Amino acid sequence: MSDQVTYLSTRGGVEGWSFEDVLLAGLAPDGGLFVPDVWPMLSEADLEDLSTADFPDVCAAIVTRFAGDTFSPVEVRELTSAAYRSFQDPQVAPLRDLGDQLHLLELFWGPTFSFKDFALQLLGQMIDLVLSKRGERLTIVGATSGDTGSAAIAALADRKSVDVVILHPVGRVSEVQRRQMTTVDAANVHNIAIDGTFDDCQDLVKAMFADESFRAEMRLSAVNSINFGRIMAQVAYYVWAYLRLDRRPFSVAVPTGNFGNAYAAYVASAMGIPIESIIVGNNANHGVSRLITSGSLSIQDVVPTVAPAMDIAVPSNFERLLFDILGRDGQLLASTMADFRERGVLNIPAAEMAGVTSLFRSAWMADSAIEGYMGELYRTHGVIVDPHTAIGIAAARMRLDLANTPVVAVATAHPAKFADTVERATGVAPDTPAGLAGIADLPERYASLPADLATVEAHIRSATRSH
Ligand SMILES: *Cc1c(COP(=O)(O)O)cnc(C)c1O
Repeated sequence: MSDQVTYLSTRGGVEGWSFEDVLLAGLAPDGGLFVPDVWPMLSEADLEDLSTADFPDVCAAIVTRFAGDTFSPVEVRELTSAAYRSFQDPQVAPLRDLGDQLHLLELFWGPTFSFKDFALQLLGQMIDLVLSKRGERLTIVGATSGDTGSAAIAALADRKSVDVVILHPVGRVSEVQRRQMTTVDAANVHNIAIDGTFDDCQDLVKAMFADESFRAEMRLSAVNSINFGRIMAQVAYYVWAYLRLDRRPFSVAVPTGNFGNAYAAYVASAMGIPIESIIVGNNANHGVSRLITSGSLSIQDVVPTVAPAMDIAVPSNFERLLFDILGRDGQLLASTMADFRERGVLNIPAAEMAGVTSLFRSAWMADSAIEGYMGELYRTHGVIVDPHTAIGIAAARMRLDLANTPVVAVATAHPAKFADTVERATGVAPDTPAGLAGIADLPERYASLPADLATVEAHIRSATRSH
């Protein structure tokens, strides 16, 4: 690649970083998020070349554009084929035509049955390769609202180059989600149940990164959706969906929590994929919807819902979109975020929002509407979806005239991960895939700690030292 993409922080503090550095650092040292300096474009010829490629090859084409010379072409191809080898569907991300212009992009065939595997399986491969070349070790810390944690653990368990520490909010993840994390018997995996919400867990992770001495001592890195490598991996399936639709323009429906998956659709659009609208759906925690419709966000308490992976008050990836909304002005973004932290209110002028709102639409719904819609989808289309997926499809129904354009709705989790809700909503128990059936009887391993930085840091120090 002649023109290497380099990375800068949304808060203006650093620029010119390589993909490799961004991959290992996760969060930028000034507290901002890394973004590429320019969007690499996919030309007509590039897309023509990819039209019969398999998923790992499509993904390799995306990685090549974002990773510069961090990996050789042969390495990229090996990384992507290794990352998606464990997926249970031969297509990796099958696109199912449900009729009425609605297409379901099934992103749940990875080892932990949510779309998080797409990014984390690839990140696990990439981080391990980079670290083993450098002869280094890292402690990877993440907060999870349910699915990131298990996907990170599945990707990193028993890898020599890392310890992985995952914080989850006690009682706020489903039993299946918890067991997927806590039953993994690997010495480098450390689960912590935090007495608090997902936002408390996310705040603790951010605070550990802000604690310079702890960060350096533990060689901290993050695989949360703040890692740009995750966004990159997720761009691949939007490009893939476009190719499977024979390159017709389409709209995307995405259930959103931390705004990572929706932002990846935005990146695909910035790279030249003709996405007409990105419809984002929220549950009762509807910060993203408020931002998109009104440009404002005030911090509110998180309420538990039937779509717990989206029970999030502050969508961390929105900062990346905000960076573009504010004309990529890092100083302005830094002061906006400082103001947000101080006053708990974010207000983006309507004129600045205009460009963005033309691409995005949003809707939110309460639990009763989510379950009602799951039942309706089953009766009308014979399809069983998990509650998160239902939110995206329902939002598309509410905000788009489906006659005009095909909609690719991302199915973010296998329905069996949320079996109770599925059964209540549809009257049918979802089939349990083999990989989920066995974990009910395995012993669990995790620490239970208060949402207190010093306590959590002390625990991580001793847990990572003891093996
Ligand atoms: C993480 C998750 C989401 C939300 O995705 P974001 O990228 O955080 O917006 C939606 N559905 C499921 C099943 C998830 O695990």
